[in-house]
Amino acid sequence: MVRNFDKSQDAYKEAVDLMPGGVNSPVRAFKSVGLSPIFMEEGKGSKITDIDGNQYIDYVLSWGPLILGHADERVVSSLKEVTEKGTSFGTPTIQENKLAQLVIDRVPSIEMVRMVNSGTEATMSALRIARGFTGRSKILKFEGNYHGHGDSLLIKAGSGVATLGLPDSPGVPKSIAENTITVPYNDVESVRYAFSEYGDDIAAVIVEPVSGNMGVVPPMEDFLQELRNITNDNGSLLIFDEVMTGFRVGYHCAQGYFGVTPDMTCLGKVIGGGLPVGAYGGKREIIESVAPTGSIYQAGTLSGNPLAMTAGYETLSALDESSYEEINRKVDKLAEGYKQASIDYDIPLQVNRAGSMVGFFFTNEPVYNYETAQNANVDHFAQYYRTMIEKGIFLPPSQFEGVFLSTAHTDEDIDKTIEAARIAFSKIEK
Ligand code: PMP
Repeated sequence: MVRNFDKSQDAYKEAVDLMPGGVNSPVRAFKSVGLSPIFMEEGKGSKITDIDGNQYIDYVLSWGPLILGHADERVVSSLKEVTEKGTSFGTPTIQENKLAQLVIDRVPSIEMVRMVNSGTEATMSALRIARGFTGRSKILKFEGNYHGHGDSLLIKAGSGVATLGLPDSPGVPKSIAENTITVPYNDVESVRYAFSEYGDDIAAVIVEPVSGNMGVVPPMEDFLQELRNITNDNGSLLIFDEVMTGFRVGYHCAQGYFGVTPDMTCLGKVIGGGLPVGAYGGKREIIESVAPTGSIYQAGTLSGNPLAMTAGYETLSALDESSYEEINRKVDKLAEGYKQASIDYDIPLQVNRAGSMVGFFFTNEPVYNYETAQNANVDHFAQYYRTMIEKGIFLPPSQFEGVFLSTAHTDEDIDKTIEAARIAFSKIEK
């Protein structure tokens, strides 16, 4: 059966006149896989349905937040109850205490937390605090790591061992970009070199403890521990951007999984359970430097609003250690199925994995940083992707993104996905 996308296509034609590219976030454009956006209408558990009535097993999960799957009963019923009482007050609410306590209990580095409205806000604020707290200007980030669209972080780096950043996006002033140093992921020597050159002025190192924005690239052994040692030795702060990995890689986030504790942590996605939330937290003495206890300013009209706090609280409350074991088991099964399919159909494939985070690259070469990720065959991916859509499997439309599973995914979902991948692999024209 060939799927029909007429309604999505009509809606897209309307949307392109209304919003740039017809979308409110560029990744939704499906450009790199040669498709146009698919408009979704509803979701339940692991399944979503588009406006043409096509159903899919969903591995995007709103780009990570929906770890319980779509429209989870516990989240939806609590949201209904809270909504009836008013959506926002601009005053403290009990819901904020509840989510903050849960986050503090579960994230090893967080003694105190501040809620914001997106991952971008969390990382932007964390940088300001790192700079204000240390009195230093520069930030070190890694090539291929994405930390939202704040000016200081929209910088990828040129070649070379440690390059002072040039703006990657028009609109980022050079004067801001030159305070961002970018080095290759998993490259401790480059970090050491950067510190030997600029160490006295590096306020913080910010890192995705498992990189999820150049595809899934786990840290090599000791990489995170080395970052901890180097920042400690140089009086810089270590910031883990756990917007994607937080409550996804494991129950105690990536920092619990790898046993390395940063000074500050940024969160988003899962802690909002599908509503707009971000958060940053860390050592009490650092976070207390924020207004009103301290002089570093950061604020938000809707920050900590009761709806987002409720969705986050219900989501985190529904997870325990065994939830992750169960997701991991399904990820194991999916990964094994893909590996076997790649052997059977002679399609080069790398499976990268950390806890429940998994990603597939169409290449024979190991992928451990941004440069090696570029070896992946984008044409193979696009062909595979289009077959998967046709077979009812909704994946992130780029291999430079992770694949997300939820507690709602069933063994039958995984079997169907592997079956579809086998068909897709068999049809790839080399
Ligand atoms: N940091 C990381 C690691 C992310 O993956 C993202 C979003 N994908 C962000 C920050 C930005 O979050 P948001 O899109 O909520 O602003």
